[in-house]
Amino acid sequence: MFNKILIANRGEIAVRIIRACREMGIETVAVYSEVDKNALHVQMADEAVCIGGAKSKDSYLNMQNIISATVLTGAQAIHPGFGFLSENSKFARMCSECNIVFIGPDSSIIDNMGNKSKAKEIMDKAGVPIVKGSEGAVNEEDEALKIAKAIKFPVMIKASAGGGGRGIRIVKEEKEFIDSFRSAKSEAKAAFGDDSMYVEKFIENPRHIEFQILADNYGNVIHLGERDCSIQRRNQKVLEEAPCAVMSKELRDKMGNAAINAAKAVGYKNAGTIEFLLDNHGDFYFMEMNTRIQVEHPVTEMVTGIDVIKMQLMIASGEHLTLKQEDVKIKGHSIECRINAENPKKGFAPCPGEIKYLYVPGGPGVRLDSAVYQGYVIPPNYDSMIGKLIVYGKDRKEAIMKMRRALGEFIIEGIDNNIDFQYEILNNQSFCLGDFNTGFIEKEFSK
Ligand code: ADP
Ligand code: ADP
Ligand code: MG
Repeated sequence: MFNKILIANRGEIAVRIIRACREMGIETVAVYSEVDKNALHVQMADEAVCIGGAKSKDSYLNMQNIISATVLTGAQAIHPGFGFLSENSKFARMCSECNIVFIGPDSSIIDNMGNKSKAKEIMDKAGVPIVKGSEGAVNEEDEALKIAKAIKFPVMIKASAGGGGRGIRIVKEEKEFIDSFRSAKSEAKAAFGDDSMYVEKFIENPRHIEFQILADNYGNVIHLGERDCSIQRRNQKVLEEAPCAVMSKELRDKMGNAAINAAKAVGYKNAGTIEFLLDNHGDFYFMEMNTRIQVEHPVTEMVTGIDVIKMQLMIASGEHLTLKQEDVKIKGHSIECRINAENPKKGFAPCPGEIKYLYVPGGPGVRLDSAVYQGYVIPPNYDSMIGKLIVYGKDRKEAIMKMRRALGEFIIEGIDNNIDFQYEILNNQSFCLGDFNTGFIEKEFSK
């Protein structure tokens, strides 16, 4: 096992990784930007190195400075967390060239799976069901329109390099197509520096169901069951749960096997997630693979008892996966609410600033993964997600009651936040019945 690792991230995920390391006796190096010098991850790590200015491109995306900090502190590996450099194949390659272990898959796998249109082609060849659409990327608008007409509207235009719900447009009719294509393309260019696009059929009222997989360096692959991430706003997850309220054992086995086959088809290593759309006929389609730890990994941890971050570290250090598929047991129910510094009443506008007062929920079955403390000033430069509230109950009903209780205890003063909005979701009848799809928030909250 490693003696020391560097964490190339910030916020709650950096704190989460430091916690796992401390429990494993691994020393940690935090990196931070100039505005983050008082951040929690900097205070919690054994060492901390400033890597540049507030802008992500000067610090958390500054590969040279991060590699230098790793070499200077003698860290043996880098955990990239999510976002930032976590799905950057060039960075993964740089790490291996410098004899630093990148805690994630090889750069070639990131290349293949990080590009969503390429990943679909690979999955199709491997026999994993995919959403019907363009074969690979399609960059000319006329050609894209031709494909859209062939697969029939409504369609979805998506950025091959997309993530975080950006670079995506739903197009209901032909006359909207060209405008949507152009605007998605320019959004993708600005957000990812890559405006390669693809088109696929829009699946009506699907659930977003994803499978967590673990793969060691020796070809052993298992899945840890599913997460239902259908509660989304603008294609970005808001609340996630495990297991899915409408999952049967048969469907879980079927989708789980498809996820394992997908991972095996690319020689996947480390933790990853296969995202599927599940339609109302029980058919499912591969959507994308995230080749990194995901925001919502805690709900899987709660129902399986497996620490996914520790597994990532063990796999990256070369240990064998000793867990067998039959050892993975799903028990109870877990829900996660993303806590964001934003104002739901003002179009979810981000709200950075000082946390003047903070009271965090506790008690049985309540877990808070966050990076904030009283007096902390949330900088305006990064994502508005400041933490995740996670509960565990013996069944879905208990988990819902527990989440309502925990959200009720949670007090954050000084900044706007989405705690009340999350509470409304937990009180919604369709949500409580498990009767929802990815259109839930738009349907229930846009009145
Ligand atoms: P998850 O599937 O783990 O929920 P999200 O898509 O919500 O992942 O993204 C996790 C975090 O990473 C978010 O903060 C999001 O803004 C960021 N992110 C995701 N993909 C990218 C990307 N390609 N480039 C930059 N940031 C990204
Ligand atoms: P990102 O990389 O931003 O996470 P995804 O490809 O995972 O992008 O899509 C984000 C969300 O958009 C999905 O969770 C789903 O709700 C919706 N979505 C994506 N593709 C389709 C589709 N073909 N039909 C219907 N909804 C889709
Ligand atoms: Mg996704």
